[in-house]
Amino acid sequence: CGIIGYVGSEKISNSVLIAGLHALEYRGYDSAGLALAQNDQVTIIKAKGNVSFLEEKLEKMNTKGTTLGIAHTRWATHGEPNETNSHPHQSGLVTLVHNGIIENYNTIKEELENAGYDFYSQTDSEIAAAYIDYCYFLTKDKVSALTKAYQHFKGSFAFAIIFQDELDVIYAMRKNSPLVLGVGEHQNFLASDISAFLKYTNQYIVLEHEEIAVLHKNQITIQNLNGDLLDKEIQTSEMDI
Ligand code: GLU
Repeated sequence: CGIIGYVGSEKISNSVLIAGLHALEYRGYDSAGLALAQNDQVTIIKAKGNVSFLEEKLEKMNTKGTTLGIAHTRWATHGEPNETNSHPHQSGLVTLVHNGIIENYNTIKEELENAGYDFYSQTDSEIAAAYIDYCYFLTKDKVSALTKAYQHFKGSFAFAIIFQDELDVIYAMRKNSPLVLGVGEHQNFLASDISAFLKYTNQYIVLEHEEIAVLHKNQITIQNLNGDLLDKEIQTSEMDI
């Protein structure tokens, strides 16, 4: 169970994601998947088992124009390890990867079914994707939608989220699951563990509970759940790679 996200240049996008997943393999996983934002479209690839199976699939694809991606290794908690249950999960305008457990997913699922949502996997994470989409539909504002979802979700989560109508930005938030942001030059990263992007930058920001991060290629902004912009310290890792 690990997450890596990247926004930056087409040249290294795929290798950042795959190298990141490999670096996170030690955390344990049963399947892996990724979403690429490519020419206004989201492309999703998933594979059960080893990260190298995902890598093989990715190599066969035309990934031209990809400057942003989110990727995931899964340790199944809800729903068996198979491709349908693998992340990323999509609902409406939202595509996300999730580490953790949304404990109240059943109540949320009922709420969403009443609002007309369908579900295809057995995961709590797909329900989280649908709930964020629903909140975005209601509020028409991404940070407000994420704030509402943050307050509603019980349990643990680290999310990397992209929205179909803004495919050059990654949103992130976490509670009881780790997530750090990597600060690069004309490129930014996020991951469960700094080792996933250390090859590219040793500058990082620790995302705390009740914070929402917005990653553009040239900028990272972080705000709290009241909407106040936070001035977070950029730290330097001395770790060797
Ligand atoms: N609860 C989610 C699932 O079972 C995420 C598991 C994880 O942290 O990898 O799909």
